[in-house]
Amino acid sequence: MTSNTADTKKKTIKTIKINVDKCNGCRACEMICSAFHAAPKYSSNNPARSRIRIIREPVRDLYVPVYAGEYTVAECAGRDKYTIDGKEYDECAFCRASCPSRNEFKEPDSGLPLKCDMCEGEEEPLCVKWCMHDALVLEEREEDVEEAVDQEDLEIGLESLASKHGLDKIMNAIARLSNKD
Ligand code: SF4
Ligand code: SF4
Repeated sequence: MTSNTADTKKKTIKTIKINVDKCNGCRACEMICSAFHAAPKYSSNNPARSRIRIIREPVRDLYVPVYAGEYTVAECAGRDKYTIDGKEYDECAFCRASCPSRNEFKEPDSGLPLKCDMCEGEEEPLCVKWCMHDALVLEEREEDVEEAVDQEDLEIGLESLASKHGLDKIMNAIARLSNKD
C-alpha cells in the first residue's frame, strides 16, 4: 500500500471469489479460521468463532460459504428467497452481516461481532489455502481511495459497537486483541 497524493492512496483490495458448486461442506475453512483467531493462535478451534460460516444442508445438497462482513444494529425489514439452479436458499443464506436476528458471526463469549480480516499478516487467507476443492479463490486489485474515508468508516464502526455493547466492553476487547500473539 503506497501513498499517491495528499488525499488519496493506492490500496490493494482483496476479495475471495466463492464457487458454491465446488464447496462440499467439509468445513476445513471454518476450522482453520477459528484456530488462527484463537488466543493464543492455534490453541483451539471452534466454528462459532470463525469469520467464515458454511450454510450446510446435506439433505437439500446446499453448501454456501459466507464471510463475516459488517455489524448491523438492527435486522433488515425485507427478506428474499433465492432459487438458483432449482435449489431454494433461505432468506438470510447469503447475508454477511453480524445481525441481531441470528447467532452467526458473534464471538461466543462476549457476543461481539466478528468480521473477516483476510488473515491480516498472512501471505494468503488461510481459508483459501485450506480449501482443497478450490471453492475459495483469492483475487487482488489496486484502487485509489481517499484516506479520509477510511477514518470515517472506522469512527462509524466504533460508534455503533460502543452504542450496542458499551464502551467498557469494547475497550476490554481491544486490550485482549493487543495482547494476542
Ligand atoms: S474448505 Fe472449501 S469445500 Fe470445505 S467447506 Fe470450506 S469452502 Fe467448502
Ligand atoms: S480470510 Fe482469514 S479471517 Fe477471513 S474467513 Fe478466511 S480464514 Fe477467516
